[in-house]
Amino acid sequence: MTSANHHPSDEVLSDFAQGRLSTGMSVALSAHIELCQSCRQRSSELESREIVAWLQADQMQPSASPDFSGMLDLITSQPQMTGEAVVEPDREPAPLVSEIHMLDHSITLPRVLAKAASKGLVWHKLAGGINQAQVQIDNETQCEFLYMTPGSQVPVHRHQGNEITLVLDGGFEDEFGHYGPSDFVVRDRRDQHQPSTEEGCLCFAVLDSPLTFTSGLARLFNPINNYRFRRATSQRY
Ligand SMILES: [Zn+2]
Repeated sequence: MTSANHHPSDEVLSDFAQGRLSTGMSVALSAHIELCQSCRQRSSELESREIVAWLQADQMQPSASPDFSGMLDLITSQPQMTGEAVVEPDREPAPLVSEIHMLDHSITLPRVLAKAASKGLVWHKLAGGINQAQVQIDNETQCEFLYMTPGSQVPVHRHQGNEITLVLDGGFEDEFGHYGPSDFVVRDRRDQHQPSTEEGCLCFAVLDSPLTFTSGLARLFNPINNYRFRRATSQRY
């Protein structure tokens, strides 16, 4: 596993620990954490800190502090679970799509992305050698696997909100740097950029608002981008 060079900030990890991220963003972050040992460690440190802060806040409000001994009594008085787990025979779990097959090799997906892809990936060719397979994760974000063929580039664009890109294979570059496997790249409304790739790149991208192409004929696609975002997030206007 290649170690990442670009990681989520402490602010993003903390938002994740407190459940403040959309499900789509959380999926991208969970996938990075699965691939990145340092973020796994940092994330559990931040979670511990949140728990300590929560406990301390509770201690400062005696009336609100939970009755742990009462809770323990309640838990130990519950009947013990016995017998077999309940199985619902009509509900077969969807098979996990654990790999994406490229021309000459296969990419093993982080578990959370395997689950996201388990409904099946339908690839669409977009302009400029970009291939896209959307997955529905929540109603707030547009989530998709993107495969950029070698030598391709996305038209220069800016964002109305946030874009998270997790590189799964290969790499791409933009005005801010080069990104390789496991890298977690965040762009926001301040950034205008043009991703391109020499070697080809498979990534997972999450948008919380439509992107806006800012130059040339690509600007004609902006209404389509808005439509795609609304369709991906099931928003109706
Ligand atoms: Zn990391």
